[in-house]
Amino acid sequence: MSHQQITVTSPLLPPIEEFMESVKDIWNRKWITNNGYYHQKLEKLLCEYLGVEYISLFTNGTLPLITALQALRITGEVITTPYSFVATTHSLWWNGIKPVFVDIEASTGNLDPQKIEGAITPRTTAIMPVHVYGNPCDVEAIQNIADKYGLKVIYDAAHAFGVKIDGESVLKWGDMSTLSFHATKTYNTIEGGALICKDAKTKQRIDYLKNFGFAGETEVVAPGINSKMDEIRAAYGILNLKNIDASILARKRVADTYRRELSDIKGLRILPEQKNVTYNYSYFPIFIDKEKYGISRDNLYYKMKEQNILGRRYFYPLISAFSTYRGLPSATPTNLPVATKMADEVICLPLHHDLSDNDVYRIIEILKK
Ligand SMILES: *Cc1c(COP(=O)(O)O)cnc(C)c1O
Repeated sequence: MSHQQITVTSPLLPPIEEFMESVKDIWNRKWITNNGYYHQKLEKLLCEYLGVEYISLFTNGTLPLITALQALRITGEVITTPYSFVATTHSLWWNGIKPVFVDIEASTGNLDPQKIEGAITPRTTAIMPVHVYGNPCDVEAIQNIADKYGLKVIYDAAHAFGVKIDGESVLKWGDMSTLSFHATKTYNTIEGGALICKDAKTKQRIDYLKNFGFAGETEVVAPGINSKMDEIRAAYGILNLKNIDASILARKRVADTYRRELSDIKGLRILPEQKNVTYNYSYFPIFIDKEKYGISRDNLYYKMKEQNILGRRYFYPLISAFSTYRGLPSATPTNLPVATKMADEVICLPLHHDLSDNDVYRIIEILKK
């Protein structure tokens, strides 16, 4: 008997009737994009939910990265992590910036602050770390280095929706942080994203940049792009915000079960939780040591697939291993031993609000075998 397929994620969907009510209202208003009622309302609600002061909505999670670099006028070289989704490094490329890859910490998968200083050159202008799996970077250490060398810090916080350190939003760290609201993320607006900044003047500049640089009917102040979120997706996002806490709680239940049941398996490593952090349980990565576990990560991955359990190898290959970036001096695997090892060992287990206990234990049994 073949079991039903278990996917790595499943989108949180708003109740269809409520969504249709919002759609009707949008039809009545006849205002479907360009900073409309729902757009403004979602920005306000997200500020309250996330505990930040200034947020700008975007049409996806990649354009806020590109726009953050524009808004801060970043040039030259930027220090970043190879252990992320390709969009992180692509955003540098789209700005004509040279990415400089630095290795990560084995305990978090995040940029290793101890290795950053060695990669700084006179051309370095910023650091772009990622809070991988929603696990906060060593934000204090990174800020100290940035202050010492006069560098900007832009966090790719695509995984860190709602994550807190000591009860304060992780999005408050650095000069700016970006979010992705893609369907596969903890909180989604189908496609969508946001850029978080620290003052009204910067938000104004960001809002100009995401609307072609228009600062009025006849004035263009910068070579902006079109990255506006429309009213339909903003309304969808407002409804999803009502259920996000319940969804995160359901994820926590699954993650806690994995953590409890998988912590003593030889050759299977899980990342420790940091104290003082409120997590969003966006991913549950495991790392397979072939010698000690008995089979390789890829063998396990395909074995799970045969049983209709779809894990994901996030993040494999490393961004630095793609042909686009492989030629960079910092991309050589000997410069990135920890990242290379983690990319070769990782599988992200299915984790979402809709996973049943049965499914979770079926996965655990396979991993224990
Ligand atoms: C998803 C993701 C992005 C890109 O977001 P999109 O909304 O898909 O454009 C950027 N960085 C990281 C780390 C991501 O996981």
